[in-house]
Amino acid sequence: MRPVVIAVAITGSVPRKRDNPAVPITTSEQIESTHEAFEAGASLVHIHVRNPDETPSSDPELFAQVMEGVKRHCPGMIVQFSTGGRGRDPSARGSALYLKPDMASLSTGSVNFPSIVYENSPALIEDLATKMRENAIRPEIEVFDLSMIHGALGLADRGLLDEKPHVQLVLGVKNALPAREDLLDILVGELKRVLPKATWTAAGIGRHQAEVMEWALARQADGVRTGLEDNIRVTRERLAESNAAGGSAGHAGAAGWVGWNKSLGELRRAGFAQLFATLVPRGGIEPPTPWIFRHMLCYTGQRLRRSGCVYTDFRINGLASNCLPVSGRDQPAEAQQPAGVVR
Ligand code: ZN
Repeated sequence: MRPVVIAVAITGSVPRKRDNPAVPITTSEQIESTHEAFEAGASLVHIHVRNPDETPSSDPELFAQVMEGVKRHCPGMIVQFSTGGRGRDPSARGSALYLKPDMASLSTGSVNFPSIVYENSPALIEDLATKMRENAIRPEIEVFDLSMIHGALGLADRGLLDEKPHVQLVLGVKNALPAREDLLDILVGELKRVLPKATWTAAGIGRHQAEVMEWALARQADGVRTGLEDNIRVTRERLAESNAAGGSAGHAGAAGWVGWNKSLGELRRAGFAQLFATLVPRGGIEPPTPWIFRHMLCYTGQRLRRSGCVYTDFRINGLASNCLPVSGRDQPAEAQQPAGVVR
């Protein structure tokens, strides 16, 4: 079985309550929605915060509240802050990084979005990457265009990224890359050529969410991404019920992933049989636990020390590992024998 990270992007900067009442806006709604997704199998939460009028916010206090709630209610879950998003002052996009979330998103280039230019100047990218480095935050490189893979390489060359970055390939944003399987192949091929040790995940926007997940899994991706940020609908007519939606038909099949550890029978009743039939024989995937995910995005040096990790050297589910959190709700017994503490 191959562990795969399920990331849940709970809110984003675009959808509003009037689009789908399930979009969590307040920090308590965000924590609750994340907890549901966590219970359903998600290992990573991607967080944007909102002002009371639902517009995007960069207020560190809001990020702090969500992070604190997630850490309390979802032990081991990876917290990832967005440094992107529409409607935010570029100079404030890194303002919450001093809170030291586990990860933060980092776009390594500019691109057109449906109605705006998503602007990431070289200076802004460098500034965000530097702040992440200083705060021992692992970036998730957001790739909306082939050139952004090379943007990541540039950061690695300048010592602002390690040689094993985590990269998300985003397909289906209007005016950027369309959701096409052959384009994913091009992106993955280039990533492997340029940054061969990178871990990667993919996100499909809107109605492309489930199919992009499927393509990614068929290509041995390290993760998939679901959540209402990317897609608020199950079908054209039907809205997704939640970020977890385990046990009910979720957004475009995404809930089949977040709900992976629901019983198969339950999911079948909910109409995911086809999804399972398509995917299980290909991948043999098991739901990643936050613990395993921490291995997959194995931190180094400072990060390991800060999160209390210790080095070991063994395999879990065929996954080579040299990083363990000392505590964790799902830490297997053999993990209790660390080989040595990181110095
Ligand atoms: Zn986002």
